[in-house]
Amino acid sequence: MAILEGMHILVVDDEKIIREGAERILTKEGWKTTIAESGERGLELIKGTEFQILMLDLMMPGISGMEVLKNVREIQPDLLVIVITGYATIENAVEAMRNGAYDFIPKPFTPDQLRIVVRRAMDKISLEREAERLRIEREKSLQDIANEKSKTLTIINHMADGVLVTDQNGYIVLNNPAVTRMLGLEEESPLGKHLSEWAGSEDLTRMLEKVLGMESSQDQGISLELSWGEDPTKSFFVAHSAPVRSDKGEIFGSVTVFNDVTWLKEFDRMKSEFVDMVSHELRSPLSSIRQKLSLIVDGLTGEINEEQGQIVSRVQHRIDGLIGMISNLLDLSRIESGRLVQQKERISLPEIIDEAIDLMTQDAEKKELKFEVAIDAQLFPIHADRQSMETVITNLLSNAVKYNREGGRVSVGAQNRGEFIEVKVADNGVGISKEDLPRIFDKFYRIRSEYTRKVIGSGIGLPLVKAIVEAHFGTITVESETGKGTTFTVLLPRGIG
Ligand code: ADP
Repeated sequence: MAILEGMHILVVDDEKIIREGAERILTKEGWKTTIAESGERGLELIKGTEFQILMLDLMMPGISGMEVLKNVREIQPDLLVIVITGYATIENAVEAMRNGAYDFIPKPFTPDQLRIVVRRAMDKISLEREAERLRIEREKSLQDIANEKSKTLTIINHMADGVLVTDQNGYIVLNNPAVTRMLGLEEESPLGKHLSEWAGSEDLTRMLEKVLGMESSQDQGISLELSWGEDPTKSFFVAHSAPVRSDKGEIFGSVTVFNDVTWLKEFDRMKSEFVDMVSHELRSPLSSIRQKLSLIVDGLTGEINEEQGQIVSRVQHRIDGLIGMISNLLDLSRIESGRLVQQKERISLPEIIDEAIDLMTQDAEKKELKFEVAIDAQLFPIHADRQSMETVITNLLSNAVKYNREGGRVSVGAQNRGEFIEVKVADNGVGISKEDLPRIFDKFYRIRSEYTRKVIGSGIGLPLVKAIVEAHFGTITVESETGKGTTFTVLLPRGIG
């Protein structure tokens, strides 16, 4: 057995030969040993030094071994005591064991007997130390787990975002105070309730059902915008829900995080109001400038020469661009705030397409673009808001012209598709890269390239077109390839029987 660290043996015996013999044998083994010739001296040493093993003679003059043993229990309770006893006093040895001695060795003993008995004691100490180490470790890891758990709970409970955890059947197993506060459901604890029963939101329940039924390949989760409460107290949230899976991929619950976006909505509303106000303020003076310019161009204010005429009509053209942009801004903010009052009527798309092409002629001629129009002769009329349809077609055509190359082509097609009308606007211009394609319907998004730098625009045409098409329950899709061209496809329900 390896020498135990910090092991110190005390031998207390009044017989010199025994105590010094024992010291010699034990020291030879490499074990630190101290000797004492009496019980008194032994106790004195025990008070001042820490020993692990005490070899104690029971029969000594003065304070007896048995008394030393009793005192030792108080001073160093962990000290292992091996009593040294003569054959005649074996009963005493038994008594000593009863009083807490660990082992005994009869006198006289051989060096081997001594080594064996001390080794046994050392084994016991070593086992005890190991057991103690394991106990401390286990306690520490239990403590760590408890700490970790309380740390996690503290974080979750103090998060500004709402957190809701359900099991695989949609029953709530954990929530933080933020989520009950956000949803105004603080009275009753949601724990143990089914989400549908607690929150009573169909959208939320449907989202959770989807998440809990997700294939193993889908893990990104689902986001949903929700609103809660009555008008003055209305709050808006974005809820993001994701499945929780085992190592094998089985779903055993869901975690949903709620962000309060009421303030963002408020910002958005303020921004829309601001844009609205500025646009209105700009539109009137611009329209009046445009009218005055018409008077000049039409010669009503006196004759102008050709150069002056060209300059004024260029200015007029730029002002038309500005007025168009302002109308787009106004329409967009109206659509977003749900204020775009749609006056649906029976309209003919070919007419609108023709008018839009007419508007583009000047720009198209500058680039020597060719228009190709293919409209189904039997095209059904459509039930829609006329002004909105003009906005859709004009914006798509204007982009096909703006982002085209010299001598390029713009084709416009319209045909019946069951209950829908399909309008296609295609060009063979600069095209849109794969990276930009998903973002072109975002508000104010403009592609930055050598080419687009030269083109005037505001990034609100396509978002407006999309908003209008969707407000008519239609869809818009785009296909494009850099350098080859772009095709926008709009599907609109005819809206009439
Ligand atoms: P803009 O006022 O910049 O034209 P839009 O919202 O109409 O704003 O379009 C967004 C961006 O999409 C444009 O800046 C342009 O880069 C790209 N884009 C739109 N239509 C086309 C097209 N037909 N061909 C190439 N790029 C286009």
